[in-house]
Amino acid sequence: MPYISVAVSLPVMKSYTYKVPDHLQEFCSPGVRVLVPFGKRRVTGYILAGQESCEGFTAKKILDVLDDHPLFPESEILFFKWISDYYIYPLGDVIKAALPSGFDRHDVSFVSVTQKGRARLDAEGLTPGEKQVLDYILPKESCSLKQLKKNCQNTTINALIRRMEKEDLIWVSSVLKKDGAKIKKEKFITPGDEPTTVIRMSKKREKILALVKEKQEISLTGLKVIIPTAPALIKPLALAGYIKIIQRQVFRDPLGEPVEPDTPPKLTFEQEAAVKQVESKFNLGFCSYLLSGITGSGKTEVYMRLVWDVIEKGKQAIVLVPEISLISQTERRFRARFGDKTAVIHSSLSQGERLDQWRKIALKKVSIVIGTRSSIFAPFENIGIIIVDEEHDTSYKQETGLRYNARDLAVVRGKMNACPVILGSATPSVQSYQNVVMKRFEELKLETRINQHPLPGITLVDLKKYKDARGYDRIITPQLSKEIRHCLDKGDQALIFLNRRGFATSPLCMDCGKSLSCKYCDVTMTLHKGLNVYQCHFCGYNRSVNTKCPSCNSSKIKPLGFGTEKVESMMKAMFPDARLTRMDQDTTSRKGTTIKILKSIRNRNVDIIVGTQMLAKGHDFPSITLVGVICADLSLSLPDFRAGERTFQLLAQVAGRAGRGQSRGKVIMQTYNPEHFIIEAAKKQDFMEFFQNEVPYRKALMYPPFSRMIQLKISGSDFAKVKDYAALVAQTLKALLEKKGKQKTMVQILGPIEASIQKISSRFRWQILVKSPSSVLVNSLVKAMMDHPKITSKSGIRLVVDVDPYSLM
Ligand code: ADP
Ligand code: ZN
Ligand code: ZN
Repeated sequence: MPYISVAVSLPVMKSYTYKVPDHLQEFCSPGVRVLVPFGKRRVTGYILAGQESCEGFTAKKILDVLDDHPLFPESEILFFKWISDYYIYPLGDVIKAALPSGFDRHDVSFVSVTQKGRARLDAEGLTPGEKQVLDYILPKESCSLKQLKKNCQNTTINALIRRMEKEDLIWVSSVLKKDGAKIKKEKFITPGDEPTTVIRMSKKREKILALVKEKQEISLTGLKVIIPTAPALIKPLALAGYIKIIQRQVFRDPLGEPVEPDTPPKLTFEQEAAVKQVESKFNLGFCSYLLSGITGSGKTEVYMRLVWDVIEKGKQAIVLVPEISLISQTERRFRARFGDKTAVIHSSLSQGERLDQWRKIALKKVSIVIGTRSSIFAPFENIGIIIVDEEHDTSYKQETGLRYNARDLAVVRGKMNACPVILGSATPSVQSYQNVVMKRFEELKLETRINQHPLPGITLVDLKKYKDARGYDRIITPQLSKEIRHCLDKGDQALIFLNRRGFATSPLCMDCGKSLSCKYCDVTMTLHKGLNVYQCHFCGYNRSVNTKCPSCNSSKIKPLGFGTEKVESMMKAMFPDARLTRMDQDTTSRKGTTIKILKSIRNRNVDIIVGTQMLAKGHDFPSITLVGVICADLSLSLPDFRAGERTFQLLAQVAGRAGRGQSRGKVIMQTYNPEHFIIEAAKKQDFMEFFQNEVPYRKALMYPPFSRMIQLKISGSDFAKVKDYAALVAQTLKALLEKKGKQKTMVQILGPIEASIQKISSRFRWQILVKSPSSVLVNSLVKAMMDHPKITSKSGIRLVVDVDPYSLM
């Protein structure tokens, strides 16, 4: 086709038509990237469709075709369009977010100072703004436009730059940024046809020829293992025609250790019933299921059986799992069952590894993908099933850029592909269970643990009753320490859970009573003893441990509050004979450390494990018989309507870590609110009790799942401007709502209000919440607001649209 419609990777909502020169036409198909001119720049575009003609205007020509093969199938474009519409996000940016990172070529602008600019700098007569720009660029010779804008805190910087360019004081030029992700090529050696010249044969040369003859094709890397000097030896052999050296694209292998194949066990009665229920409707197309089954009830085995069915039929399967620490386990089980039919995608892959997993899918080399949230975009064409394990997990929600929820998208993609979608969890989200209640989802239930292992017994300990000699709260009560002792004496492992890292979490000035807060954020800093600093967990800013109170300059700062680091040091003092490890963000930031800690637990090289929620997720450690929860109510008081739900899920999940092996587990849950319904439900591990108490409150306040919400997050470094802009956005929304006639009573617009964390990284934060039972209504209202001429983009102010928000702070 002579024309194509293209989504450009820029923040524009519509797609554009381009002309394809004759010689490039055969390379253009949907899913392939092209380099296109856009205004003065060159940017990446994604081909959506071919077009016979172009009416009413002359289309610009594309500059280049960037891929040999489509990066995604044509059928996925409809999915991308749905996402763009629902999340109010530009289509090109949706596709960019869906693809592995590093797939983007565009012009980057660089600025340098002209001769005239230099001369003017020496003479006088520059405005302060002009002088600032020139002074910034000059020492560096040139800098990127982006960098310049960021460093000159000038609100009219764009106009200023344009004027200075016109007056020939600066020079703006473009350089094409290349893809960061590269296809890996390797050298392979194959037998030659007939030697053209005869050369002398050494022992090693003969060995190479024999190997090549035997294998017919061998990679140079493989050959090097046998003959380390091979790279130098093959050249003359190739020149003389004995062998051929070819370059071929290869896939990087991120999987590390190989796994032993497993044999599928005989399903239990319950598992069998669940599998049958789904299979019986395979031919009916889309249906969503909630597989609710307590921890250890065999959900993963159900997933694997269904995936087996699907790939037998020649279709493909997407399996989503929460962030990193869990993937190692489920991934291993899938690889043990399905071998190299599986691609794996998660956040600790390098850019190149990620690219290769994606290519394996796009080139149909695999039929299963297992991975974290972005795997929902996997470029499969004929999807037979989508599975979301631990569907309640918040890591399915992306919190930057395209703020999507992979769990929700799984249902959308399943509908588009007419295939079943299975959401599984021991502690389902309120939203998914409400979908069961409303008969939108079918429920599949697993109610007994494999091997009948009973759930652990949970004891609540009221923290209010325990003070030390000086009247401070006890962090580790006698009950808990007694149980730990007992557990250690039996030779078992104990897991101590606290969802807060660091040593002292609320350092306080003893002279003026203010807490030590971050210079750039409206949050208290945390003392990290191991690092010898106070740290801000939002922006990373550090203060020395010897810091003085920023308000009164006193040096008496008391390290109040406790985190995992403190609990670890207390454990060390209380149980000097025990081997300890700590697992939190601080101890797992380096690549490979997570796996190392998990292994040391598995191999029973540690007795006590202190950790944050990282430990709560899906691990199966048979020797842990005791779980101690230091403070069950930490997340209960957060200003978020899901605080109760999160707390319940977290506690139930942590408790589920105890007693996965032969002996029954025990959980000691310390809390300040033993009578709270969330804590009580968690103690009983009773999801229904939690759900039934939670639902009336959500209904009364019109919170999800009884309404749809869009949160508008407005931030910037100038407080007054942010506040004014937030007011303008709210006014515009309210004015648009007035025009909706009868429907207007169906929408609530709350705010603008200051966010509960008022400042992060020197940016002030305001919010507006739009709520309605109708998703279409909130969506159309916010879209109309964004299109309103009054809401032009303001420099220095960021407006983020968060559809179905998770993080309300
Ligand atoms: P869940 O995902 O619900 O927590 P798993 O699928 O991890 O549960 O199962 C718990 C354990 O039981 C695993 O070690 C698994 O290998 C084993 N298992 C699962 N199904 C069966 C079965 N039908 N027969 C024997 N063992 C099983
Ligand atoms: Zn002070
Ligand atoms: Zn900070």
